[in-house]
Amino acid sequence: MNTMETTNRYIAATYARVPLALERGRGSLLYDEAGKEYIDLGSGIAVNVFGAADEQWLGAVCRQAAKLQHSSNYYYTKPQAELAALLCRKSGMESVFFSNSGAEANECAIKAARKYASDKYGPGRHGIITLEGSFHGRTLATLTATGQEAMHLHFGPFVEGFSYVPANDLSAMQAALDRGGVCAVMLEIIQGEGGVRPLDCAFVQGVARLCRERDVLLLVDEVQCGNGRTGKYFAYMHCGVQPDIVTTAKALAGGLPMGATLFGAKTKDVLGPGSHGSTYGGNPVCAAAGVSVVSRIDEALMAGVTEKGEYIKNRLAGAPGVEDVTGMGLMIGVKTAKDVRDVIAACRERGLIVLSAKDRVRLLPALNIPMDILKKGIDILTEVIAQ
Ligand SMILES: *Cc1c(COP(=O)(O)O)cnc(C)c1O
Repeated sequence: MNTMETTNRYIAATYARVPLALERGRGSLLYDEAGKEYIDLGSGIAVNVFGAADEQWLGAVCRQAAKLQHSSNYYYTKPQAELAALLCRKSGMESVFFSNSGAEANECAIKAARKYASDKYGPGRHGIITLEGSFHGRTLATLTATGQEAMHLHFGPFVEGFSYVPANDLSAMQAALDRGGVCAVMLEIIQGEGGVRPLDCAFVQGVARLCRERDVLLLVDEVQCGNGRTGKYFAYMHCGVQPDIVTTAKALAGGLPMGATLFGAKTKDVLGPGSHGSTYGGNPVCAAAGVSVVSRIDEALMAGVTEKGEYIKNRLAGAPGVEDVTGMGLMIGVKTAKDVRDVIAACRERGLIVLSAKDRVRLLPALNIPMDILKKGIDILTEVIAQ
């Protein structure tokens, strides 16, 4: 049996996979098992921010793996300390909890929000408001937080206390907050899985104000849109708000599993010894990868992200077969006249990898994708969409 056949036979069928067995890559070019080359505009869902097998990233990973691959959190390790300090410097947050995925980063945020309210106000103030169309993960609590009915089938009973408000509807948010018992509001600045839908900054600022007035925590899920993807380190920075808790993952270690929950001034001391933990969390190899990635996401790189994002939008907006373009920086959604599955399949035929989000084509290229490769990719995409 080949890779696809063995996978389909032995791996639980939770993914609707594209019929493509990837073997290796260099930067923004990937190769399948037959050696066919693809331009990669997906980065493994916004993960490989410096592309495949990037030399600096590889060096950081290999050096740490050769020293000590894991220690557990009984002990101190330098890569973890460095990464935490770096993230706080980039974000203005105060402390960090490391985990292994976006879902875990959000679980931690949910637990911390509940403990903050429980410490300060006693029991009963455990409600968490999220947005319709959101995606926060696949564990039971983060699935409950995810505001998509279709994902809630079959898995109940759910974690109590979650409610959902339409995105960009500030009066609905105020009404939900005024029902009381709420400890936090959680939102993505750009809904990724929900179809690359940015929130209005006026809404984000309004929510921040409503939360502040009520001592309700603002939790911002930057798992997908964070780490330079939108042209600022975190997407909330476009709106000039300072969240109480920020979560991130995907790009954080550039291709190794790592999640982080960042705490602000109000929440930095909420989780004390024994209140939360993770065996692998902040693993030294992942953390060394993280230090290498995060320290390279600087102003110059992000200026390039903004510029390349504008380039993509200019090429696509109004092009034949394109109905709408959304997103910011190198996180872009394209509504096409053609069915998105047909676009993905036709692009694959022609050596281009793109993703989908709901009914849109989703582009999440490496932040350092060379301009000539990006141009070739967009050439193919516009031709496929126009056909
Ligand atoms: C991908 C994603 C998650 C879940 O991350 P995992 O690493 O798959 O657990 C959570 N929130 C957002 C916004 C995401 O895009």
